[in-house]
Order: sequence, then structure tokens, then C-alpha cells
Amino acid sequence: MNMQRIEVKEGNFNLKDYQEAYKQFDWEDVKKEFSWSETGKVNIAYEAVDRHAENPDKADQDALIYSAPDREEHVTFSQLKKSSNQFANVLSSHGIEKGDRVFLFMPRSPEFYSAFFGILKVGAIAGPLFEAFMEQAVRDRLEDSEATMLITTPELLERVPYSELPHLKQIVLVGEDPETNEEGFIDFHKEMNQASESFDMEWVDLEDGMLLHYTSGSTGKPKGVYHVHNAMLQHYQTTKWVLDVKEDDVYWCTADPGWVTGTSYGIFGPWLNGVTNVIVGGRFSPENWYKAIQDHGVTVWYSAPTAFRKLMSAGEEAVKPFDISKLRHIASVGEPLNPEVIAWGLDAFKLRIHDTWWMTETGAQLICNYPAMEMKPGSMGKPFPGIVASIIDNEGNELPPNQMGNLAIKAPWPSMMRAIWERPEKFESYFLNGWYISGDSAYYDEEGYFWFQGRLDDVINTSGERVGPFEVESKLIEHEAVAEAGVIGKPDPERGEIIKAFITLNEGYQESDELLEDIRQFVKKGLSAHAAPRELEVKDKIPKTRSGKIMRRLLKSWELGLPTGDLSTLDE
Ligand code: ATP
Ligand code: MG
Repeated sequence: MNMQRIEVKEGNFNLKDYQEAYKQFDWEDVKKEFSWSETGKVNIAYEAVDRHAENPDKADQDALIYSAPDREEHVTFSQLKKSSNQFANVLSSHGIEKGDRVFLFMPRSPEFYSAFFGILKVGAIAGPLFEAFMEQAVRDRLEDSEATMLITTPELLERVPYSELPHLKQIVLVGEDPETNEEGFIDFHKEMNQASESFDMEWVDLEDGMLLHYTSGSTGKPKGVYHVHNAMLQHYQTTKWVLDVKEDDVYWCTADPGWVTGTSYGIFGPWLNGVTNVIVGGRFSPENWYKAIQDHGVTVWYSAPTAFRKLMSAGEEAVKPFDISKLRHIASVGEPLNPEVIAWGLDAFKLRIHDTWWMTETGAQLICNYPAMEMKPGSMGKPFPGIVASIIDNEGNELPPNQMGNLAIKAPWPSMMRAIWERPEKFESYFLNGWYISGDSAYYDEEGYFWFQGRLDDVINTSGERVGPFEVESKLIEHEAVAEAGVIGKPDPERGEIIKAFITLNEGYQESDELLEDIRQFVKKGLSAHAAPRELEVKDKIPKTRSGKIMRRLLKSWELGLPTGDLSTLDE
């Protein structure tokens, strides 16, 4: 299949000529979309929620469709404005002020979103934690951020060592619990019921903080990434052009708000654009997901390669019982998107899956595939207008096309992190000669498409050739027997490193010498002899972060018998 010929479609980003759009673009023009361009004072909660609640045409539109196995609820923009005002009043009455860190450790629910916007409305900094974190992960983040308040549920409270966290003064419990009688505990429902539905919003500056997000921990100890209200410019514009949302769309981002995708594009992006946002609780299964798309009439879907690969393993049979015909646009983030997955998407959904590249530190999408752009499967696409991306060497010099190097972005851009929490030297270490260094290895081709190769540390040097683990993994999963693959470089006296691949097998396949040899030959024929794994090991599971990323550093530590480092984000 020549996938370069996948038909492009009209989208919000309609300027067919990417170069033209790129040249004309100015972030200053995006400011005009918001009320604060006149006042200079801002609050992202106003732009995402209250602005729509005050618009008679939008007030009664569903902001949120919450759907979990035991609960389904629709929340309008008007209701979300009122409930977040109530929570802002609760926070104020307990002394929470601008700049305080208020963390959330709870499952997605309507209460989560009221609390989240309540935090922003008082000018405090929200710190969302993934609900599956265990005690150490919770402790590390609360300690590092010196959060003074935590919002959690009685069930999750067991994993919060609150008596050992001196800064943590107050805990809001969402749900009944006897402990709420103790000092420092606040009963969410009781206080919400008594709180006023109007609140005088704290107007802040564009450069004031709103969010503290910890990274996924794929490469080491998670970093506390600090974001400011100004990021909304980019949340808004990228959601419009890359996720292509229109006012009557029903949008679903599968990421948990404990990860940056779950806030930038699970909260801000859709609501800054006034779009109905579907939140699905409960466990992942292909049936649950397809059912969610069918039942809520999802039109735009943003998810991750790990999820798409699982759906692909379940086969086209899994999607057949469901009517997902309203779906019109799909995008992906978090890991490289394998060409095999794009080919499968064309078969299963008759739609392209658009890869987008960005990081917790970047706050929003930077390099993307756009609806109206020809797609080269395996490429992350091209820089968003207003973003200058390049490949540089270790001295900060730009490299020509087709040379692998550090993927770098000209600093700053609207949603760029403003600090690593309390670690100025770490923050500084991201920058060189005016470039932000991503830590990812990539190259760009003559047509300006960027191609991800791997994390800088993951790039393999075998017999003098540099091999990115991503292309080997992508080739491996094209083999009919292989479900998932993680590839590492293993030190070798003769070759520097050899390529070792860990794979999981699709259902119905048994490990055998013949099968492994067949897989090896498949990569050799498809890629090259030097890229074919010298060692192949079948596993039951590939270790991943809780945000779904393959943890190659862990595969490597296991292989070499080295200490495993920070495992707080390892999925069980
Ligand atoms: P840590 O920084 O703690 O090691 P992490 O880098 O995985 O964790 P995130 O900020 O969640 O934390 O992920 C950003 C990284 O994810 C990028 O640096 C890149 O390696 C990878 N990534 C994200 N999107 C893509 C994509 N479209 N293609 C390839 N890689 C991607
Ligand atoms: Mg990172």
C-alpha cells in the first residue's frame, strides 16, 4: 500500500499550502480570540468554562459527558461554572490562595472537574496525580511540590502517608468517611452543598502558574513541570487545527489527567474551543472503548499507540458489532506511531490516525500531522505554525536533512514550561544556544517531515551504525505473530552493541526456534541485516509506564543486571 496517497481532507487548518500558513502565523493573533486581550488579566478557568456559561447559546450545552460502569452524568457549561465556583468558595474559606499547590488524587468524575477549575479560579496551582499511584509515588510528588492541600477519596486515602508530610495541612475527602471528623479533614459534599454558586474569580497574569505536572518517568525520576496560564493560546489553537474540533463535535481524549495529555487535551483544549468532552471511567477493553464511541457518538478521538496496538491485536472482529460511523478524526500521542497501526486504522476505521509529538515540558503539541496534509506513515509530521523545530548536534549547531541528532525547538513558545519545580539547574539543562533540547533523537527529510528515532539514550550503536529502536520495533510488530516489541542495545565486545528485542506474541502463537528465526529474517529482509535483532526474547508483557510507554531503560537494567532506578510509574 502506498500510504502517502492517503487522501487528505478539508479541516479547520484549511490552508492547503502548509508553507503559506506557517509563514503567516502569529501567536499575537490568537490572543484576539480571548477576552483578556483587552484587560490584560486572565484566568484559564474563565476562558474554558465561564465564558461559555455566560453565552446563552452555549450555557446549556453539555461540557462533559461522564460515563462509567456505575454512573452516567451530563454536565453543562453553566453547571460546571456553578460547581467550580462552589469549590472555589470552599477553598477560599480554608485559606487557599494564589500560588498554593493543591493536588488531586482521585479518579475522573464530575467532582474532579469542579475541583480542578475551583483550584484555578482561586489562582492556585493544580497538581493532578494518576489514581493508580501507590504510596511512594504519591509521597514523592507531595513532598517535592510542598502541596498544602490534597483532594482525594476515602479509598485512595490509604495510599497517602499524610502524617509524614509536614506541608500537607488539609485533605478534602470526596465520599463518606469517619475521618472527616478529624482536624484537617474536609467533607467535599457537605461543604459544596453549603457553598455559594457565585465566586469572584482571581484574575491573574498570563505568566502566573496554573499546573504542576510530573513527567511519565520513562527515563528516570519524574520531574515537576510548571506551567502558566499563557499555555492556553497553544492549547486552543492546536486543538482547533490538529485535533480539528468544531463546535458540534463530541470529543474523547482517553488520557487520564494525571498525565499532561489528560489536562492539555483532556480538559483545556476541548473546553477552550467550547466542545462537548466525553470522559470514560472504568477499565480499558476493546468492547468498552468501541461502545463508548458508539453510545456517545464520538466524532473526534485522541489516544495513544499502546491503546491502538491493543485494539489492533483484538482484530477487526472486535469493532464490527459497534456502530462507530460518526467518528471522523483520530489522533495519537505519547509514543511513536507505528506505520502498521496507521495501515490497520485505514482498514478498521477507514480513517487516518494522525501522529502528534510533544512532551510534558512542552505543554502542547509541537510537531504534527494535519488533516489537510499528506501523511508519511512513521513520520511525526511538521512543526505547528509559530514553532521552529530543528535537529542539532551536541554543540548546538543545526544539522542538514537526513542526519540523526537532537530534536530541538527554538525557545520559547506559548505553552513551554516555565520551571522544573525548585530545580533551576535542571531547568537550565534543557537549553543550549537558544534551543530547547527534547532528549529525543530524530531527523527531518528534504520535505520537512520529522522522523522520530528513539530517546537519545536509547539509540543503538551497532558495528558503527546508529539504529533507532522505533524502526526495529515497528518492523517487528508487522510480523503476524508479534503483538508488542521493546528493543534495546546490549553491550558487545565486538560490535559495540547488539540489538536485543523483547516481544510478546499474539494469541494463537507459540514460541519456537523456527518462529523466532522467521521473525529475525522478517526484520532482516524488511529493514537491513544490521537492524535485525541478534537476540530475541519472548515475554508475557513488555514493561510500561502507567501512561502506556515502553520502559526500555527497565528492559536494559534487567538484561544487564543493573539497579532498576525509579519505578514509581511502572504499570503493574
Ligand atoms: P520522563 O521524562 O520522566 O522520562 P517521558 O519523557 O515519557 O518521561 P512525557 O513527557 O509524558 O514523559 O513523554 C514525552 C516523551 O514521549 C517524548 O520525549 C517522546 O520520547 C515520547 N513521545 C511523545 N509523543 C511522541 C510521538 N508522537 N512520537 C514519538 N515519541 C513520542
Ligand atoms: Mg521526558
